[in-house]
Amino acid sequence: MTTSTHELQDLLDNNKRWAAETEAQEPGFFSRLLQQQTPQYLWIGCADSRVPANELVDLLPGDLFVHRNVANVVVHSDLNCLSVMQFAVDHLKVRHIIVVGHSNCGGVKAALLDMRVGLVENWIRHVQDVRHMHSDWLATVAESRRVDALCELNVLEQARNACHTTVVQDAWARGQEVVVHGWVYGLHNGLLEDLSITAGSAAEVDPAYRRALTKVKTRFAPAA
Ligand SMILES: [Zn+2]
Repeated sequence: MTTSTHELQDLLDNNKRWAAETEAQEPGFFSRLLQQQTPQYLWIGCADSRVPANELVDLLPGDLFVHRNVANVVVHSDLNCLSVMQFAVDHLKVRHIIVVGHSNCGGVKAALLDMRVGLVENWIRHVQDVRHMHSDWLATVAESRRVDALCELNVLEQARNACHTTVVQDAWARGQEVVVHGWVYGLHNGLLEDLSITAGSAAEVDPAYRRALTKVKTRFAPAA
């Protein structure tokens, strides 16, 4: 057995144990899931290994529909993210779309500091757009907190982008109940925080965005 195969064997062993424990705790768990998935939530988060969607909110398979990419970006031309959203909203009828950023995000940091990181620079260019939108305010934030400030601004902008997708706009137009949220996860304490950009209709988007932006700016205001 090669070293690399041996290393992966641990994962397969873990999986066997997890499946057995899950089935033991809740007999018939997997056969029920086989019938259908009925998640209530779509999680759009960062690909960072420290921000595993299901674990953070203690949900089992079947409860959370998940899309993750570097720096939790929602781009109007990204067919991958849009397809996940469309399937989640149109077919699974999720009731909540949660855009989740996290503190000290590597993608956001690279965008803030113009770091040369290769191909992915083209992707985090979208985060640089956020940085440029708010550059005057960001300049007032203490340097040590600027990455986290941009992480939160990025959540607001990506949540607003989610609201503006045809998927969400069409759902709202036909009266389907779906609410968009923006959260941030603290790597340092394991806690999720609601940034209050909560919109359940087209009319709510701008007021929610402004309210949430004020909250972020207050939070990162220089100490008096
Ligand atoms: Zn990240």
